[in-house]
Amino acid sequence: MPTDDSGLPAESWRWTEQTWRGHLDAVRAGRRLVPDRWPGGARVAVALSFDSDHETIPLRDGETSPGRLAQGEYGARVGAPRILDLLARHGVPATFFMPAVSALVHPEEARAYTRDGHELAVHGWIHERNMLLDRDDERELTARALDTLDTLTGQRPVGIRTPSWDFSDSTLDIMLELGFAYDSSLMADDEPYEIVADGRPTGLVEIPVDWIRDDAPYFTMDRYGSVRPHSRPRDVLEIWTDEFDAAYRDGGVFQLTLHPHVIGHRSRLVALRELLDHIAAHSGVWYATHAQLADTARAVPAGRTTARSVPEAPEQTP
Ligand SMILES: [Zn+2]
Repeated sequence: MPTDDSGLPAESWRWTEQTWRGHLDAVRAGRRLVPDRWPGGARVAVALSFDSDHETIPLRDGETSPGRLAQGEYGARVGAPRILDLLARHGVPATFFMPAVSALVHPEEARAYTRDGHELAVHGWIHERNMLLDRDDERELTARALDTLDTLTGQRPVGIRTPSWDFSDSTLDIMLELGFAYDSSLMADDEPYEIVADGRPTGLVEIPVDWIRDDAPYFTMDRYGSVRPHSRPRDVLEIWTDEFDAAYRDGGVFQLTLHPHVIGHRSRLVALRELLDHIAAHSGVWYATHAQLADTARAVPAGRTTARSVPEAPEQTP
């Protein structure tokens, strides 16, 4: 957030129209990228993602106690193998966003993702907070993360999700400069869209996320904080099932963001298992990695404004 010399937030009520429009226009949702039918004539696209953060979140915060790190280690040691097993039994591909430090700690896991036909994509260096970095540091860490995953697996990632979905004023430029095909960190729609910067279409596909379709807010807690957000996994399953059912009706995308150290626990994996069973009971489901979804979205012809999840926009007068 911009600040003045006092360190307080900028007095936004004094901004000129040019200033507040400038902030809004810097990164904006452009055309929605939904085809008439998904590949194979499917009615809905299902894009599952897992952020394999493991130990990097406490490391990023300088919390180096074995107790905190062990909570992340659980994700690699228990969560990820359980998830890979579940996906294999359902024959479903997924995208794994992995901080480079996490991949260096668990190189076999990173290689297992690509070997099993899943996608491995960039999720920062050490789950850094982009908003706290200057442009050069953010660029260097992102480039190093990309090169590290490439070297470890022999496959160069094409997608990125910013750590904690933290998007700075430099993030979009860095993504474009490094040649990413898609981002999955923003929340302006239920369906994929093209990112527009200062009114100019960028060609970068956004596969939007949302906290509703993320396991972390429902299940994680801070031992010394006062909030205890533990939710019943079956209640969360109901929310995600409603999200899928509506995406199915709309002919859109059902996208989910999970974490091995969060969803991988026995009582919580029930929610993912039953969700996959629910989805599998439907015909016309296209399971896609985020990269496959981005490729299909990018091929949607210009001029299409299909908006099955929202009313058709009124005709624009030139
Ligand atoms: Zn993460």
